[in-house]
Amino acid sequence: MAEKRDYYEVLGVPKTASDDEIKKAYRKLAKKYHPDMNPGDKEAEAKFKEVGEAYEILSDREKRARYDQFGFAGVDPSYGAGAGAGGYASGFDDIDLGDLFGSFFGGFGGSTRARNPNGPIRGRDINMNMTLAFEEAALGCKKDIVIPHLETCESCHGSGAAAGSNPETCPTCGGSGTIRTTERTMLGTMQVQKTCPRCGGKGKIIGSPCAGCGGQGRVRKQKKLTVTVPAGINDGQTFTLRGQGDAGQNGGPAGDANITVTVRPDPTYERDGYDIWCDIPVTFSQAALGDEITVPTLEGKVKYNVPEGTQSGTVFRLKGRGVPYINGRGKGDQFVRVNVEVPKSLNAKQKQALRDFEGTLGAKNYEKRKGFFERIKESMKGEDA
Ligand SMILES: [Zn+2]
Ligand SMILES: [Zn+2]
Repeated sequence: MAEKRDYYEVLGVPKTASDDEIKKAYRKLAKKYHPDMNPGDKEAEAKFKEVGEAYEILSDREKRARYDQFGFAGVDPSYGAGAGAGGYASGFDDIDLGDLFGSFFGGFGGSTRARNPNGPIRGRDINMNMTLAFEEAALGCKKDIVIPHLETCESCHGSGAAAGSNPETCPTCGGSGTIRTTERTMLGTMQVQKTCPRCGGKGKIIGSPCAGCGGQGRVRKQKKLTVTVPAGINDGQTFTLRGQGDAGQNGGPAGDANITVTVRPDPTYERDGYDIWCDIPVTFSQAALGDEITVPTLEGKVKYNVPEGTQSGTVFRLKGRGVPYINGRGKGDQFVRVNVEVPKSLNAKQKQALRDFEGTLGAKNYEKRKGFFERIKESMKGEDA
């Protein structure tokens, strides 16, 4: 932490770099330091992480703005941003000392955010659920969804004012959305900050509201979208659709849509992390004699040779036949548990054949059974003595 380098320096871009330049610089460096390209190289690994962190901040408009203004303190809550200053509050963008004073001493606690109501405000995130079949989650898929969110009103482009008019700066608060009054208290005279009663804190007054949005600047829409569900996602995990939440205000960025996944249980497969388990019934003869069986996998059926003398409950591993890792290359394995099915509803002839067959077997054919009864005999002796 002490030697943390400036994020712009890490990516080797100027402070004025465009989003595109930042992305390009990131991709180049991420490739250069990628662990796959530098196996076992700790320094490269550290660089790779550093580059990733820098990109995470600089690629996000809001985080980048905070970083530009406050440095690491603006983007890392563990960095000890002064809690009283509310420096990490979301949507925060502009502060003056008067506001700071107000929130320290005005008795509004942390809930009063020192914020310019006309400054950019990021839209709210939206949280949704999606149900997927086992294979859809494991292999990834495309899904049509409808996101109910607020979009910037097309008629007024977000201003809230009817065509031909503009919102006016509130004369009572001068556009700040808050007014300050001086009050006497037990501790002496104090500056108290209150929401402007005239504009309700918006800092603007709309004379003739836009008919499309009723002056709100945003309208509720059901947005239809085809989304790509990442392969490898598991039950209870969330993926994010950037910018698909509510539209921002005053030029602020849109929020995100966070989609939490529920995976329906599958009759064939069970998932354990990135591994897949399945049970396959085999006949007594297949287990005793050995046989080639067909095993279903995510990528279709494969043949597997069950060896002679396979016991019920034996587990075989099919390497790399599991679920793809959600954030990287490679896959889990598939585990196949063989269950020997004992035949039922035998007719008299079959039963006799089985008895005849059994009569030919001896202790050497039944290792477990032999061991078991020898142990029992031992313990019986112990009781007798
Ligand atoms: Zn409108
Ligand atoms: Zn006002």
